Amino acid sequence: MPNLKLCNINKIYPNGFQAVYNFNMEIKEGEFIVLVGPSGCGKSTTLRMIAGLEEISKGEFYVGEKLANQLSPKQRGVSMVFQSYALYPHLSVYDNLAFSLQLEGLDAETIDEKVRRVAEILGLSDYLFRKPKALSGGQRQRVAVGRAIIRKVDIFLMDEPLSNLDAKQRVSMRAEIIDLHRKVGATTIYVTHDQTEAMTMADRIVIMKDGHVQQIGTPRELYFEPANTFVAGFIGEPPMNLVKAEVKDGKVIIPGSDASYDLKDVHDNELENQEIFFGVRPEHLKVQRKNEGMIEVHTTVELTEMLGDNSNMYLKWGSNNIISKVDPHEVSKVGEEVTLYVQKKNIFLFDKDGNSLMK
Ligand code: ATP
Repeated sequence: MPNLKLCNINKIYPNGFQAVYNFNMEIKEGEFIVLVGPSGCGKSTTLRMIAGLEEISKGEFYVGEKLANQLSPKQRGVSMVFQSYALYPHLSVYDNLAFSLQLEGLDAETIDEKVRRVAEILGLSDYLFRKPKALSGGQRQRVAVGRAIIRKVDIFLMDEPLSNLDAKQRVSMRAEIIDLHRKVGATTIYVTHDQTEAMTMADRIVIMKDGHVQQIGTPRELYFEPANTFVAGFIGEPPMNLVKAEVKDGKVIIPGSDASYDLKDVHDNELENQEIFFGVRPEHLKVQRKNEGMIEVHTTVELTEMLGDNSNMYLKWGSNNIISKVDPHEVSKVGEEVTLYVQKKNIFLFDKDGNSLMK
C-alpha cells in the first residue's frame, strides 16, 4: 500500500474563491486521518482533491512515488463513502453490494464470496435479501460502507458518513468503522465537523479553519498541546475557557478579576507588558485543592447543568464568563461564591494573535 503526500495543495474555485491554502502532509500507509473543522473550512474540498473528483489548482499530490494530480479516482485506488449514501432502492442489499463487482465483470462465484465476506464483517448477513427501505438508518449506512470496501482499494475516503444517523447509531458505527479499519487496513481519510468523532477515531487529526491547516497531530497532542486558541477551543467539550490577560511585573493579571499569577515557569517567552490569552479547560478547574502550588480562581455560580456523569457550572470570574466541569456531587448553588483550583501544568497561555506560548 502506498503512502500519500500532499505538497502545497491549493484550491481556487472557478469563481476565484480560494477554499484551501498550502495544504502539506505526508500520510503513512494504513493511517486513519481525520480532517475536522467548522462548516466551510475546506475539508470536503481537500478530500475531493485527494479522490480525484476536484482538480488541484496548485501543488502536487503523490500516491507512493507517483504524481497523481491527473489520475482518475480508479487509477488512484480510492473508494469513497459520501454523507448521502445513495443506495439503489430497487436492489436488495446483496445486489447493492455486488453492483460494482458485476460492473468489473467478476464471475458470480467470486462475487458471492466477496459479498458474503463483507456482509459478515459489517453484520449484514441476515439482511442480504432486504431492500434498503426495510433497513434502519444504521444498517443502510453499513451497506454504503460495504459498497465502498468491497472493491480492493488502497485508500478509503469518507465524507461525514455518520451524519444521517442518530446519536446512538453514530457511536456504534464509529466503533464499527474503527474495527473495520483494523481488519481491512486501508489508509483512511475521514471528514467530519464533530470533534468527538475526530478524537475517538483518528491516528492523526488535521484541524482546518478558513482553508488553512491549523494543526496536525495525534488526538493527545491536539488536546494537550494546542498550537493556537482555535484548536484549543475546538477540541474539548465544553471548550477551553479563554480569557484576556496582561503581563505586569512578571505576573499574569486577569483584568476584571482579582487574579494575578506568577506563571513564569509554564511559558517560554518574555511577556512583560504583553496582552495575552489565559486558557484553562473546564475539566481542570477543580473544586477541591489537591496540592500546594495550585492557582486559585474566585468565582460566582450563575447557572448549573446536570449531565449525569458530570455537571457544568457556568461561572462569573470577575467580569469574565467561564465554565467548570465537575462531579455532580460538587455542584454549588446558583449565586454561591466558589473557589476553584487549577494545577499550573493545566494552564495555557497564548499571544494576542492566539498562538501558543507554552514551553
Ligand atoms: P461542510 O462541513 O459545510 O461540508 P467543508 O469544510 O467541507 O464544509 P467545503 O465544502 O470544502 O467545506 O467548502 C469550502 C469552501 O469552498 C466553502 O466556503 C464553500 O462555500 C466553497 N465552495 C465549495 N464548492 C465551491 C464551488 N464549486 N465554487 C465556489 N466555492 C465553493
